[in-house]
Amino acid sequence: MTQQLKDHSLKQLNSQYLAKLTPEELLHLSTKLLHDLKEAREQINQNSNNSSKPPSSGFPWETSPKTVALPETEGVGAARGKPTPEPEAVAGTKPAQPAKRKAGKQPGAPGYGRVWHPPINADEHHYPSRCEACGRSLDAAVSRIYTAYDSVDIQFGTDGNPGLTVITTRHHLHDSVCTCGHVSRHIPHRQAPDPLYPEVDVGEWRLIGGNLAALIVHLRLRSRLSLRGTQELLREVLGIPLSVGVLQQCFEEAAASASPLEDALVEGLLAEATADGGVLYIDETSWKERGEALWLWTFVTTLSVCFYVGQRTIEMLDNVISPHFGAG
Ligand SMILES: [Zn+2]
Repeated sequence: MTQQLKDHSLKQLNSQYLAKLTPEELLHLSTKLLHDLKEAREQINQNSNNSSKPPSSGFPWETSPKTVALPETEGVGAARGKPTPEPEAVAGTKPAQPAKRKAGKQPGAPGYGRVWHPPINADEHHYPSRCEACGRSLDAAVSRIYTAYDSVDIQFGTDGNPGLTVITTRHHLHDSVCTCGHVSRHIPHRQAPDPLYPEVDVGEWRLIGGNLAALIVHLRLRSRLSLRGTQELLREVLGIPLSVGVLQQCFEEAAASASPLEDALVEGLLAEATADGGVLYIDETSWKERGEALWLWTFVTTLSVCFYVGQRTIEMLDNVISPHFGAG
C-alpha cells in the first residue's frame, strides 16, 4: 500500500479547511484519509515492539532519518537528494539519535559529483495535476517552482547519427494553490522498497538517468569492468565524473528495479515450457568469477533464454523450477 496524502498536504489540513469543503470534496478527502489511517494502524500493529520485524523497520521518529531533502543549490552533484517527508517532532517521544557511523566513506556520500557543474541542456517541469485534498483540477499557469534537481543521462546514437550525447536535465518541481486554499506539490515518485533490497531507495529523484544506468550496468556485468575501470571510462570517454559511491548506488538501484522482472521472466519461461508442445532445456557449464569457481546455468525454451550464475547445487534447480513442476 502507498500513502495517498503526502505529509506536505496533511500538515495543511485543519477543521476550518474542512468546514469550507463541499460534500463531494469532503468525500474525496475522507477516502484518502481513511486509506492512510488504516495503513498507519496496520503499521502500528506490526511495529518492532510487538512483532518480529527488525528495529530498522520502525517509524522514522524511532530511528534517525536516513535521508534529508537537499536544497536546490546542491544540484547535480548530490548523489541523492530525496524529498523525504520530514518526520515531525512527536510529543512525548525522544528526538532521533544520530546513527552510528561506520569507518570510512559513508554510503551515498558525495564524491566528484559535488564539484561537477555541467551545463544544463534541458528543462523539465513537473506539476501537480489535482488538488491533493479536494480533488479539483489545478491550473499549471498559476503554479510556482518550490525546488529542483538535476539528472544526467546519455542519448544513444542511431545509424544515421552515431555516437553518444550527454544530456543534463534540470527538473523543476512545482506547487499550486487550489481555489479551496490547499497547496499541492508534485512530489517525485518513490518505489515501495523491494523485500530483497530493503535498504535500496528507488525513485524518480535521481542523478543517473535510465540510459546511463543501463550503460553502467553493462560495463560492469557484460564488459566485466571493475568499479574503478567503469569510473575511469565514464570520466575519460564521456566526461562524466562520478564517484565510486554513486556508481555502487546505481548498481544497487538497478538490481532492486530489476528484481521483480526475474520472477516475471521465470514465470514466462515456465509457462512456455509447460504449454502444449513446450520444451525446457537445462544446461550448466563452469564459470569463473573473481577467482571463484561457479556454474552458469541456462534454461532454454523455444522463445526465451534465462541465465543464472551460482553454485552447482540442486537448490539452483529447486529455486527456479520446482515450484512450477511440483518437485521437491
Ligand atoms: Zn482543493
